Amino acid sequence: MTPAIVWFRQDLRLQDNPALAGAVKRGGPVVPAFIWDPAGDGDWPMGAASRWWLHHSLVSLDESLRARGSRLTILQGDSLKVLRGLAKETGAGAVHWNTRYEPSARARDARVRAVLSGEGIETADHNSALLFEPDSVRNKQGGPYQVFTPFWRHCLSLSVEAPVRLGSGAIKAPLKWPPSKGVGTLRLLPKVRWDGGLARSWTPGEKAGALRLRRFAAQAMEHYAAGRDRPGQDGTSMISPWLHFGEIGPRQVWAAVESASKGSGIFPPGKGAGVFLSEIGWREFAHHLLFHFPATPKVPLRAGFGRFPWAPDPGRRHLRAWQKGLTGYPVVDAGMRQLWETGWMHNRVRMVVASFLVKHLRLDWKNGAEWFWNTLVDADLANNTLGWQWSAGCGADAAPYFRIFAPVRQGERFDPQGAYVRRWVPELAKLPLEFIHHPWDASEELLKSAGVRLGTDYPRPIVDHAKARAAALDAFRRMKSFSGA
Ligand code: FAD
Repeated sequence: MTPAIVWFRQDLRLQDNPALAGAVKRGGPVVPAFIWDPAGDGDWPMGAASRWWLHHSLVSLDESLRARGSRLTILQGDSLKVLRGLAKETGAGAVHWNTRYEPSARARDARVRAVLSGEGIETADHNSALLFEPDSVRNKQGGPYQVFTPFWRHCLSLSVEAPVRLGSGAIKAPLKWPPSKGVGTLRLLPKVRWDGGLARSWTPGEKAGALRLRRFAAQAMEHYAAGRDRPGQDGTSMISPWLHFGEIGPRQVWAAVESASKGSGIFPPGKGAGVFLSEIGWREFAHHLLFHFPATPKVPLRAGFGRFPWAPDPGRRHLRAWQKGLTGYPVVDAGMRQLWETGWMHNRVRMVVASFLVKHLRLDWKNGAEWFWNTLVDADLANNTLGWQWSAGCGADAAPYFRIFAPVRQGERFDPQGAYVRRWVPELAKLPLEFIHHPWDASEELLKSAGVRLGTDYPRPIVDHAKARAAALDAFRRMKSFSGA
């Protein structure tokens, strides 16, 4: 039997990996390969924080493969060219991979499939990244869904496959391993080492992801319905980067939830497991939308928003203040600093900072999407596009534009003890709770005793909430009047 290449991409795990299982099943040698091909990702080459994650994830995958007598061949260049070369070098008769849903990856994969098949090499793409293939979920009219609730209701009426198991034995090695680059030669790690915070926060790789999922399902999932809105607590799973890189698969998440719910298969809506699974549902919905509306990473789904009157930002002063966590609104700044330090931000705060950028500062949501893309370890084209278009009010099932999150109120409601702000904005840590979300209202004396010099240690608000809100609503009205949106 000829060898089979397994082309690893965003599926960096051994268990529940149908491409790997498919290649093993053929019975011949298996050549696991990863190709670093940023140009193949079109307009969205991987951002800096994600590259950090990828570096460590590849190291971890190689270790797991070596424990089974195999190894990861790492290559660089145009995917098609490299795969053709690798097939020639190893005499491979098949290439297996798991589907990706980003528009540029889809176009590239179609090309790879056509060329390899034309050369007599069997190709097989599998589904490892989603519970439900985007094309298999259709509304009554046969079109894609644009509203989450009916989408997810429909999904819940379908059955979820069990994770694909890979036996515990060795993976058959080829007679001779092809040459491989060391992961270090891909230069995924930053030259200037700003990644200490990432290293302190995360352990990439399949094993660490499985542990995090198990712990969450056993300890925190029960309280998820309430805990998920408290950024100061460890109330969410934090599995997003592992899910993005495919070190955890959604079928494994589903199975873990089922097993923690004692296999009842019943996840009442509103209760921990049901609410948690509906977030996995939002991830499915995001991929469904990206698949059916591939222009949305750059173009609003609601066409009228294409002419929104964004505010000028001379010298990018407002954008920079937002990026650095120096807006003067503590909960916004806490979120942006958590992002910078750890490569992750709590979902509630993502919504608050996104709303602040597009409504208080009236800066184009794409500025925010790009910043997140570069700084998040879980940067994901489907989820990020949905999150930003939702926040800007221009996407599917989006928050209406006129619903403007008041940052002080959001802070008081979701960070009621100020724990999140104190952790990420340490210069305010000594302020009493009463003023932690609006330090500008504290007296000079009180600020002094808390060691805060407003405008020096911590900025005054860069925009006034009431004025910014009124200007945003006015801009929205103007857009509606000239676009008919
Ligand atoms: P949990 O609450 O434990 O949820 C479990 C999983 O469900 C998550 O890991 C994620 O895969 C999925 N999920 C949860 N909420 C959402 C959601 N609203 N949309 C889609 N999937 C969801 N998520 C990303 O994975 N990558 C991104 O680039 C991304 N960008 C975002 C940008 C904005 C402006 C907003 C508002 C949200 C964004 N999200 C993104 C969604 C969400 O914030 C994160 O998935 C979540 O915070 C990850 O933390 P968790 O793993 O603890 O989530």
